[in-house]
Formats: sequence, structure tokens, C-alpha cells
Amino acid sequence: MNADPYAWIEKSLAAIHRADWYRSPVAIDNCPGPAVQLAGSQLINFASNDYLGLAGDDRLIQAAISATKEFGTGATGSRLLTGHRELHRQLEQAIANLKQTADALVFSSGYLANLGAIGSVAGARDLILSDKYNHSSLKNGAILSGAAVIEYGHCNLADLTAKLEKNRDRYRKCLIITDSVFSMDGDLCPLPELLALARQYSCMLLIDEAHATGVFGASGGGCAEHFGCTGEPLIQVGTLSKALGSLGGYVAGDAALIDFLRNRAATWIYTTGLTPADTAAALEAVKIVKQEPTRRVRLQQNIHTFKDCAIHKYQLPITDSISPIFCLPLKDAATALTVGSQLKQMGIFAAAVRPPTVSISRIRISLMATHEPAQIQQLVEALKIANPRQYSGN
Ligand SMILES: *Cc1c(COP(=O)(O)O)cnc(C)c1O
Repeated sequence: MNADPYAWIEKSLAAIHRADWYRSPVAIDNCPGPAVQLAGSQLINFASNDYLGLAGDDRLIQAAISATKEFGTGATGSRLLTGHRELHRQLEQAIANLKQTADALVFSSGYLANLGAIGSVAGARDLILSDKYNHSSLKNGAILSGAAVIEYGHCNLADLTAKLEKNRDRYRKCLIITDSVFSMDGDLCPLPELLALARQYSCMLLIDEAHATGVFGASGGGCAEHFGCTGEPLIQVGTLSKALGSLGGYVAGDAALIDFLRNRAATWIYTTGLTPADTAAALEAVKIVKQEPTRRVRLQQNIHTFKDCAIHKYQLPITDSISPIFCLPLKDAATALTVGSQLKQMGIFAAAVRPPTVSISRIRISLMATHEPAQIQQLVEALKIANPRQYSGN
């Protein structure tokens, strides 16, 4: 045997290219905001998760700089050893306050928060019911936990009920997991109905508020607040990297749950604490989220402007949503790439999202509080010219 054991990699890469699934990062050369500097040209940015425009905010930048000067660049160890600072605790209390939960725990990323939370509360002999459109971190968290995993149709309560009815009794604990705002479609999970089912079938319910925190709810508490479900028995996961403009993730919930995670969540125990800079920036962001509801109002106005024009006036085949995430479904990956580059030529940067991230290729559009109405008009004009109707997948 002298075959190259790595030869398969070139073959797999070639298959990825053939399917138009190939991806590589593109460098953005400016501070985060509604405009991006990309390979020498200036584009309007409709691809960012920085919904409130905080990632480039001077107050977050200054908070990160002073924390770095005071505490250095690295946490130097795990939180249970040398990596814990009072700053971490302040951030956790601020998140608990925002989410109106008893406590919270910050992780190095939202992905790790999901892996840690799911793997801690569910295991062998348990059942996880997972929305078909859930984020990768929820899906992989479920797989890693060792529990039996059953997917239910996207936001399909009848399907979820049938699957609970058929399977719940055969397992010890049961956990339902769902994005609260779906990251690629922008729709919201039916939270009150999910809570009722969780109660009826004695299940835990974990919601991923990655795209909801700071965006939904009168004080930015997310979908839980939006639906009037604060105080309900929920496990709330989220990220510090989207509307909060920093890096890291969190789990918010009951005091016993958080205490248990500090003792059980491997992705929290065996990893280095958040950097002082990320922690301080996120803490500043949580303060701004609470103190400046006008950012959420601006974002909602931008959502209305876009919908009025793109969906109601021009009837472009864009999925309706009340979140800042919209999608233009397209018939295949190659079309998504074509439309993506047409938009770029017209000064618009929006993500061409293809399998395996999603099953239906699309252009994903995300709006920010800091977009000017004229920039949104420019987006709509570009979408009209790209004439997506002829490419529509359905
Ligand atoms: C982005 C995202 C995550 C991961 O958060 P990171 O902090 O970027 O790791 C988790 N869940 C959902 C739904 C997301 O969109």
C-alpha cells in the first residue's frame, strides 16, 4: 500500500467546486458599519449581523481598550483557575438583567454555549426534539450530547406534537431546541405555543436568541420579552457577537441551571475565559441596548421601509419577516452566486447562502439600525434590476 492517504481531500474539494458550493473568506478593510470596503470598492453592507451598529461604536472600542490596558490581552486560563475577572461577573449580571433571568454564564462563543448547554442537560436515555431549520450549533450540540435526536418540521407544531405523543414516554428527560429568530429565514419560532407543549409533555425548552437579543423586546431582551415569556422556565442561549458587537456567547436562566453549567459544561470548564477586551465591549453593548431603545426603533423603521418598498410596492419574491433578516430564495447555488455578483456590481453587498448551510440557495439580506433610508432604496432598486423573479426557486 503506497496510496496517498490524503488524496481524497483534492477530490472532495473538486466536488465542492463542481456543485458551486465552494467558499472562501473575503477581506473587509474598514471599521464595521453600513458601508464596507471590499477589494477596493465601497459597497452598502446588507450582510452583517451587527444589527444595532455597535461593533464600530466608539464607546465599545474605548471600553475594550481600557480593559486591555488594565487587564492585558488574554484571560490566561479557564474561568475556574486564573481566567476569572470581576468584569466577567459584571457582564453575566448585566445579561441576566437584560434577559430577566436569575443568572447567566458567558462562554467563548455562542457555538460553544450551545454545545455546552445542550450536552449538560441532555444525554444518553434522553430525547431532543429539534427544529429542522436550527442553526448548526444546536444540531451539533444535540448530536454531541448522545441523546436521541428527532427533527420536527420547521415551526410545525402539529408535527412536534405528534412526535412528542409518539416518543416522549420512552425517554427520561426531553429537551426541545429551536432558534428564536431563524438565522437564514428571519422568521420567529412560535414561543408561547412551544412553552405550552413543553409544559404539557414535561420537556425543557432551549431557545437560541442569537438574532433576537438586542433586536426584539421593549428593552432588547429578545423573543422571550417580545412574546411576553420572560420568567417562563426557559434555557436562553445567545451570542455577544451579533447585535452586541463583540465576541462570545451566553446561557441565561434559572440560578440552579447556571450553577450546574459551571460544574458540568465542558465547553465552559475546559476553555480559556473571554478576553478582557471582548468582555468589556459586550458589557458596554448591553448597557447601550437598554439605554438606547431608539436603535431598535430605527431598525424597525428600516424593516418597514424595506418591506413597504420591496414586498408591497414591487412585489419582489422576498420572504416576509418582522426581523431584520430577509431572504430571496433562488433556484440553485449557481444562480445565488450570479445574483450576488450582480448586486455587488450595483454597490450592494448581500450574502449568497448556499448548501450545506441551507437547503434552498438564497440571497440573505440583513438590515441595520444605522442604514439610511436612501441606502435601503438603493438595495430595492438593485434587487429590481437583478430581476430575481426570473430566478425564483418557487
Ligand atoms: C451565529 C449563531 C450562533 C453562534 O454564535 P457565535 O457567537 O458566532 O459562535 C449560534 N446560533 C445561532 C442561531 C447563530 O446565528
